[in-house]
Amino acid sequence: MPLMPTLRMTGILAAIALVTGAGPAGAQTAAEIDAALKAAYAKYKDLKEGKNADYIPALARVDPAIFGIALVTVDGKVYTVGDISSEVSIQSVSKVFTMARVMEEQGADAILGTIGADATGMRFNSIVAVEMAEKQLGGPEMNPLVNPGAIAATSMVRGSSRDEIWKSILGYYSDFAGRPLSVDKEVFKSESATNQRNKAIGALMYAYGYIKSDPERATDIYTEQCSVAVSARDLAIMAGTLAAGGRNPVTGRRVLKGELVPRVLAVMATAGLYDDSGKWLFRTGLPAKSGVGGGLIAVSPGRFGIAVVSPPLDEAGNSVRAQKAIADISDALGGNPYAPAMR
Ligand code: GLU
Repeated sequence: MPLMPTLRMTGILAAIALVTGAGPAGAQTAAEIDAALKAAYAKYKDLKEGKNADYIPALARVDPAIFGIALVTVDGKVYTVGDISSEVSIQSVSKVFTMARVMEEQGADAILGTIGADATGMRFNSIVAVEMAEKQLGGPEMNPLVNPGAIAATSMVRGSSRDEIWKSILGYYSDFAGRPLSVDKEVFKSESATNQRNKAIGALMYAYGYIKSDPERATDIYTEQCSVAVSARDLAIMAGTLAAGGRNPVTGRRVLKGELVPRVLAVMATAGLYDDSGKWLFRTGLPAKSGVGGGLIAVSPGRFGIAVVSPPLDEAGNSVRAQKAIADISDALGGNPYAPAMR
């Protein structure tokens, strides 16, 4: 009767899971997840390192004390600590979801073939990176998480008018977040008045044929997408949707085809934290994306999505407290997908 012990074991394990409250998200109980969040919050609450981004004037005015952490398991449980109702502009975190939109509409190869999936090794708004791709590498050797690739991705979203394209983007982000999101008008105005460099990038991407439609319009929509207001909770649900294979674990709605999720996560792993993407992956193993508004999302595939909002940034442009808090919490929960033995 070789099967009997196995069946008995399964029953025993199920009973243990029932008693401890451990869910499909992993070995942790709700109390353990809660404790990990609270410990990271307490440890970094008073940390004063870093500085708000100020090249977009409105970002310099955001309260640097905002600090909220949220984690969403793939079975839809939401854990939070700190300030999770204050909203910041999503900034570059938006790039993940516009890339996902294009993949959902046109397939993963549409991104790979026109923009690429490689780190540029340069700043997120580098013009030299565009020149390098065009003149030295001879093709789509960027990625949709740096500004040239992101503006190109925005230009690829389908729609017959600016309004239709914008509705498609905002609606898609809202499906990921599980609630209707809106734009922080002050940030949009402030960035629109100061985004000459992004306009130059858009024009160059058009000149080289990466953008096929009006580049001014693409840059304008890109600027608006960066101004969408989100809380730590919103961002965690967005990350949780990726962790859950493209189905929003809170609303139950499928947002992205399951087979596209690994493609999105791969680009996040490659280029999610600007010039420190390699260091971040080395430290945590988590596909992630940060934005200069102070938001950072990270995904433990099949386990949880996590987000922190805290505006002060380090030299590379990543939220100081967010990086530290997420790394600690993921360690505590065995979130590193490259470390199966630790789960
Ligand atoms: N809207 C910002 C820009 O294009 C996004 C930058 C970021 O968050 O990395 O400069």
